[in-house]
Amino acid sequence: CAIYGIERWGNDRFEVLDNGNIGLITDHAEGPVTTDLTSILHSLEERGIASPILLRVANSLKNQIDRINMSFANAMKELDYKASYRGVFPIKVNQQAHVIEKIVEYGAPHNFGLEVGSKPELIIALGQRLSKDALLICNGIKDSEFINLALLSSKLGFNTIIVLESKAELDLVLEESKKLNIRPQLGIRIKLNNRITGNWASSSGDRSAFGLSSPDVLYVIDRLRDEGYLDCLQLQHFHLGSQVPDIIDVRRSAAEACRFFVELRKEGAPLNYIDLGGGLGIDYTGEHKSTENSINYSTDEYCYSIVEAVKNTMDDAEQKHPTIVTESGRATVAYSSMLLFNIINVTHYEEDNIVEVSEDDDRSIRDMRDVETYLTPSRLQECLNDVTFYRDEVRRNFGRGEVGLRDLAKAEKLYLNLIAKMRKATEADEWVSDDVLSALESAADIYHANFSLFQSLPDVWAIDQLHPIIPIQRLNETPTRRAILSDITCDSDGKVDQFVLADGISSSLPVHALEEDEHYCMAVFFVGAYQETLGDLHNLFGDTNVATIEIKPNGDFNLIHEVEGDTIAEVLSYVEYNTTALSNNFKQMVEEAVSNKKLTVKERKAMMNAFKESMNGYTYFEH
Ligand code: PLP
Repeated sequence: CAIYGIERWGNDRFEVLDNGNIGLITDHAEGPVTTDLTSILHSLEERGIASPILLRVANSLKNQIDRINMSFANAMKELDYKASYRGVFPIKVNQQAHVIEKIVEYGAPHNFGLEVGSKPELIIALGQRLSKDALLICNGIKDSEFINLALLSSKLGFNTIIVLESKAELDLVLEESKKLNIRPQLGIRIKLNNRITGNWASSSGDRSAFGLSSPDVLYVIDRLRDEGYLDCLQLQHFHLGSQVPDIIDVRRSAAEACRFFVELRKEGAPLNYIDLGGGLGIDYTGEHKSTENSINYSTDEYCYSIVEAVKNTMDDAEQKHPTIVTESGRATVAYSSMLLFNIINVTHYEEDNIVEVSEDDDRSIRDMRDVETYLTPSRLQECLNDVTFYRDEVRRNFGRGEVGLRDLAKAEKLYLNLIAKMRKATEADEWVSDDVLSALESAADIYHANFSLFQSLPDVWAIDQLHPIIPIQRLNETPTRRAILSDITCDSDGKVDQFVLADGISSSLPVHALEEDEHYCMAVFFVGAYQETLGDLHNLFGDTNVATIEIKPNGDFNLIHEVEGDTIAEVLSYVEYNTTALSNNFKQMVEEAVSNKKLTVKERKAMMNAFKESMNGYTYFEH
């Protein structure tokens, strides 16, 4: 099914198999291996892990960590860069214990470290056995407790760098360091002037809330010098914002940061590390262009651009090459997770209704019927304008009491019929305006999907983030329907109506007509970054089941970790209900009904069992 554009956005990780299922490609020492993703889902369901399932593929994490490190190593070799690369994973991007554990394990050969932005994240990092040369970078606003712990961690062998984010933080750091008699490793977060485009543009530029302006940087330098701590300043940090769409911004910012770096060294700071933060993006749409959901560069190009920018500026200033650090979160984890869910039922967009129109009908209804007489591919725009105008006239007449409910229904049916006919007419290879296309695409079925947008895809709701979403079976059959997805919450925002397709973004998704009792499943890809902890409990749909698998070199998989989704009792406790008290109240009401002879004792038993079972069950639709 080329229509879904898998080869464009799939980044060589997915392919359509001969049986119509989707194949997942993982890299192994023996070469790439394809595994049937649809069979994985069925096999998990057979084990009792119900949809929706968040599937984490551990190999993807390893593949991505290897890929980023290899790209930097290759660029450094090619450009004869005289220092090394040291990546860190920002814990905020996915804090889940099993993910962090795997990142530390797979990162060890590359001395891949961690970045923390809060005390809880620092505690997570201090519970990991990082490799000896890996960095532990402390960003974020820090109180003395945070600083104290960060300083003490160096005694355990952690390579902890405390990044100064403000002038006030400097006082605390000096105070705690003196108290503990520890020479800290310090970093300084600078604010660049260069502003990026994209969803996270506000993290960059001189109006950004983060980082020190040039006068503040000088204040920190002078103060450190005066206090005899300037030799502790090891790292210069900046962060452009996540998902940087344009490689030009990466180059410009790296070059600007290097200028600061050179100047700080001239001021006497013995900087060893230049940290360029996060920003390496994901091409969610596969368009390969500089837009909010796409990027115009590859990982290799990103790494090469950074290494080149740093090398050129350092060479020009006759400075030693520093160790390059990046904090790529999204690019490390986004690929590794996907949300698998089933379709619960379908509301069909009615078409091919038989609508009898007689000369006694309202004039606008007759005019609507006549549109069909001039419906040709070249007159689609005119037909759409007309049919919309006449339909709206009937609606207005209904409002004025001039036509009845049956006339209104007739007009609505005629409208849908004509839209369906127009859609068929667009299949002829004529050019169609975007206006017409989006009107025709929006006339779609509603596929009711077993997941909560607010819990599992919060960025889709909040910032219109696009993720590739496709059916994962019957991909060897041409889809005959168009649909939007409606989630399981009762919120009108709980829908997906923007889809990534081969020929661009569409307001409906091509899908297959559901067969009777069919377990029709779909996947949302690249959901490993940010989505898990940002998700919320709207309508009290809780965490989904999570399964972590590892693909073996022969293509089979091992289920290496499973976390059961929230039960109803759990989500109720999150919103401060005492579930025992709720059960007791319910039990009392049931008992009163028995005393009042409204319930039999047998019915009481069934009712209490149903209540208990629900309380301990999954919050999502169960088969
Ligand atoms: N570093 C810092 C300081 C951040 O604030 C962020 C997130 O915005 C990141 C790294 C991770 O960015 P990304 O996920 O784009 O790699």
